[in-house]
Amino acid sequence: MKNTFPVYYKKFTCIADRCTDTCCAGWAVVADGESLEKYNNVSGNFGKKIQSVINIDEDGDTVFTPVSNRCPFLLDSGLCEMYIELGHESLCRTCRQYPRHITYFGARSETGISLSCPEAARIIMECSEPITFETENTLDFPQPTDIDPELYFTLLEARKKAIDILQNREFPISERICSFLGFSSDIAPHVRRYEYNEIRAAIGSDYFVKEKPVYSRKKENGATKKYFSDFRSLEMLDSLWKERLSDAENADTVKYFKSNPDIDWEYEHLMVYFVFRYFMTAVFDRDLLSKSKLAAVSFIIIRKLCAAQNADKEKRTQIMQRYSKEVEHSASNMEFLNITMKKSRFYSIENLINIIRGE
Ligand code: SF4
Repeated sequence: MKNTFPVYYKKFTCIADRCTDTCCAGWAVVADGESLEKYNNVSGNFGKKIQSVINIDEDGDTVFTPVSNRCPFLLDSGLCEMYIELGHESLCRTCRQYPRHITYFGARSETGISLSCPEAARIIMECSEPITFETENTLDFPQPTDIDPELYFTLLEARKKAIDILQNREFPISERICSFLGFSSDIAPHVRRYEYNEIRAAIGSDYFVKEKPVYSRKKENGATKKYFSDFRSLEMLDSLWKERLSDAENADTVKYFKSNPDIDWEYEHLMVYFVFRYFMTAVFDRDLLSKSKLAAVSFIIIRKLCAAQNADKEKRTQIMQRYSKEVEHSASNMEFLNITMKKSRFYSIENLINIIRGE
């Protein structure tokens, strides 16, 4: 198989007890079948402890029931008791893998590290050079798939174009994101209808407008308000997060950007992270627009949060990490946003562009 990953992927190592935000705090860790079989054979007091914390949650998943909102194996020292007692191989798939994520496309796969882990976020945001990607052969077996090969390869070209647009440093990041949205909006209907020639024609077009914006400046009243109200209604791990969202709603992003003129590359990395992680999944549902909208709305919310907190580099990385943990890592939050972005006119491409340009 061939596996593609961003260059920073191999730099990651878990910093365990030095981590400011252990991944198993706040989440109920789901245990996979293979690991459960191993746990059933653990004897003695630790075996009894494992059995006492395994339960079925409301989604029907087998989980380690959190104690005081922490994984029952997370020690006060920040170390993992399971790891100490039984070694790395005993960890369930979620813990062995996190924060690495993998998506299979038949004979190809893509891996990355999730922004929700503070160490991963630090690594993603540490270097200002444009993010590049590598592909390697692996010994893994191809996964069965029914994806359309032509759609897959056309989307690969389209994603490359999307990333090129986002990394075009001749333009400010807000303009690049608007061009990316314009490109996504142009190809989305053709992705739905398997119209490859039309997608390729768009890939060959120039999406930057040097003189003046092509989109209407008429800003849909209340769109920003609606975004923040939707985000406040999400399921949250940290109660302070809702307050932060309220404080950020009216933050002056123009003033903040003026006093922090060299931070475009951080938002570029943020957008490339979302595009690398989600764009290609349109091959499964042919719904490209919701992936692009998620990236753009995330930029709008994160930019406001950074402005409200007058964030420096470290704080900006922390805000992105927290956002990812609160929003991206909750299946129900992602589902809610996906449905809302499809249904609500406030999330139209034109609104998103006008908000990004207008602020
Ligand atoms: S959040 Fe990341 S660095 Fe922290 S304990 Fe988890 S994997 Fe390790």
